[in-house]
Amino acid sequence: MRKLLLAAVLGCLSVHALAQDQLAFKDTRITAEKLGLPQANRRTSEPFVVRIYKTNDLGEILKKQPNGYPFTITKDYVLREYEKPRVHEGVDLQSRPSPNEPSTPMEFKAGVHGVVVRAGDGNVGMIAVQVWDGSVLEFLHTSASFVKVGDVVAPDTVLGLTGKKGASTIHLHVQAKSNFRKPISPDLVFRIGQQPLQTTEKPEDVWEDFDADESNVFEPKVIDGRKIPAEQAPETKWGVEVIGGGGSVDLNLGEFWSYSAASACALAWSKANPDDLRLTREREVKVTEK
Ligand SMILES: [Zn+2]
Repeated sequence: MRKLLLAAVLGCLSVHALAQDQLAFKDTRITAEKLGLPQANRRTSEPFVVRIYKTNDLGEILKKQPNGYPFTITKDYVLREYEKPRVHEGVDLQSRPSPNEPSTPMEFKAGVHGVVVRAGDGNVGMIAVQVWDGSVLEFLHTSASFVKVGDVVAPDTVLGLTGKKGASTIHLHVQAKSNFRKPISPDLVFRIGQQPLQTTEKPEDVWEDFDADESNVFEPKVIDGRKIPAEQAPETKWGVEVIGGGGSVDLNLGEFWSYSAASACALAWSKANPDDLRLTREREVKVTEK
């Protein structure tokens, strides 16, 4: 599944490169360096991997996990007693001054243009930035916030300090929501957010009804009650096509996990090809089982 996504991103990247706009980066993925953390800090977990946790006899995930838990599965897995799967929706980044030093709270930057919609509140210390297309990049476990809701931020704006609020170790977890508040790839939203806001007007509704914990639930797929597929992803994706004469598909620009990412791709293509009068189309497609 990840291979498919990568191919889609690359497909649209060449389009962006033509446009020579700000989305035309060679590697657009989130890295520690792009968020102002020392370069040596690695990505220690990827979005949409499945982790297995130990539970009590009520099926509740234990606050303090025993040795070896939680662990990430790399192939399909059959649950044992007192185990529960959870989908990890974000990228985890280390927070160390240098590779030999222990993790410590450190300043990190927004990495994107946007408006702050969460400023470190809740039991996971979430700072969230809404980018121009309405999708949101969320930074979890922070220990301090230097911004407030409504602040307009740029990629170099320092948002706060990393921490371990709601986590067992100090690190930075970066996840994303589409404008429909569904979990999507943080790398995609990071890329979309390289483009400046189209207006400096603050959003009227700054997630009044938004419950951070509630919206973080992405139920893992389970087969026959016990079997957990290693690959977990949203049920649908969006294809972007260029439509030619007679309604035929002339070009396939890529596939994305969210409509917002797909429309950003379509927009970039139109900007890159101003003399081309063909229309683009975003089409929702079911993700087929392998
Ligand atoms: Zn994480």
